[in-house]
Amino acid sequence: MHAFAYKNGTLYCEDTKLADIAAAVGTPTFVYSKKTILDDLAEFQQALSPLDAHVAYAVKACSNKAILNMMAKTGVGFDIVSGGELWRVINAGGDPTQCTYAGVAKTEAEIRYALEQGIYCINCESENELRAIDRIAGDMGIKAPVAVRVNPHVDAHTHKYITTGTNENKFGVDITRIEELYATIAAEMPNLHIKGLQMHIGSQLTDVTPFVQAIEKVRPIVIKFKELYHIEFWSIGGGIGIVYDGCLASGQPEWWAERPEQITIRSYAEAIIPLLQPLGLKILIEPGRRIVGNAAAMLTTCIYEKKGEAKTFKMIDAGMNDIIRPALYEGYHEIWPVNEHSGDTIIADIVGPICESGDFQAQNRAIADVQPGEVLAEMSAGAYGFSMASTYNSRPLAAEVLVDGDKWYIIRRRQTLEQIVEGECLPE
Ligand SMILES: *Cc1c(COP(=O)(O)O)cnc(C)c1O
Repeated sequence: MHAFAYKNGTLYCEDTKLADIAAAVGTPTFVYSKKTILDDLAEFQQALSPLDAHVAYAVKACSNKAILNMMAKTGVGFDIVSGGELWRVINAGGDPTQCTYAGVAKTEAEIRYALEQGIYCINCESENELRAIDRIAGDMGIKAPVAVRVNPHVDAHTHKYITTGTNENKFGVDITRIEELYATIAAEMPNLHIKGLQMHIGSQLTDVTPFVQAIEKVRPIVIKFKELYHIEFWSIGGGIGIVYDGCLASGQPEWWAERPEQITIRSYAEAIIPLLQPLGLKILIEPGRRIVGNAAAMLTTCIYEKKGEAKTFKMIDAGMNDIIRPALYEGYHEIWPVNEHSGDTIIADIVGPICESGDFQAQNRAIADVQPGEVLAEMSAGAYGFSMASTYNSRPLAAEVLVDGDKWYIIRRRQTLEQIVEGECLPE
């Protein structure tokens, strides 16, 4: 469930009119609903309550300090993928001892920093990484908490750029080699403490089946590891998908939440709990997209219309530098005018100002015939939206706003041109 809906012909986030935010802050601007984020977190915790489950929010989905701070206050942990993300979490008031650290190419400086901060566990992706951590922990005179990411070789049926759990991906250690690797850690790496096992098979999964298949495949190994190494947790990763197409279409949030073919937090929990409960282990889950994805819209203004030979284009003031998902992995976002139209829709491409043909937010889309100057809301922009933004074409990073009922707060000021060039200097 999310908090965006038309009321009396104008689009609201909670009890705030999006048109008011656009008028005050300008566009492009990302607008997040506090209620949606906190409700989704609470729903995970509630649905998984039969387990000893801990949510570690995947920071890379959306890492604004105000949002991390709001989450930290609920007591959730964080799954981070760089030293920078760990710094952000700590800076936002998060607890490093509740953080897990993933990623295939952690540097020595990052590993040291994470260990110094008392990270809960480093989730490793190769034997060479384990050997490096063993050496660093030895230097520091500590035992480093580690788990290894196992690659269960399950097809997640998601876009090829965001599938991570098959043996052709760079991620994790193949399921056929994982037992041998744990034996090697135990025998040869005295400065490591084997704390758990981790997996993460991909992102934007809309069906529970691959999650169940991966859990069933890895479970016998987890049982063995509990016996052999007394592991304390199993992290089953994130990847729970959201609705991109159909987000506002019906105007009925209740209908949206109940789409039978769409994974929900409840259907996910119901499918996995019976497989996990008998293990008697702490279960970590690392949702990113499912917590913040539907919790934001990006506001953008229509600049021009161009009727070409074959197509109609609506040019907007947001580009692939603001939301790269359509260009990067054919991501789909609904786009709605903040002031509702009653007339017929037209078919158009909604494109940005960037000098790349890949710079589109929608192609051949049935949308309202919006005119220059009108503000549009690009829905489901909360995950991998702002966090992937860049300043390509010397375009300042967008502003971010957090809505709380009928109040709203700027949580990131729009970047200035001076800030874009801040670190640049001329040679001597
Ligand atoms: C990105 C990532 C996640 C979160 O994925 P979502 O699809 O956003 O839920 C979880 N775990 C790891 C290791 C990741 O890299």
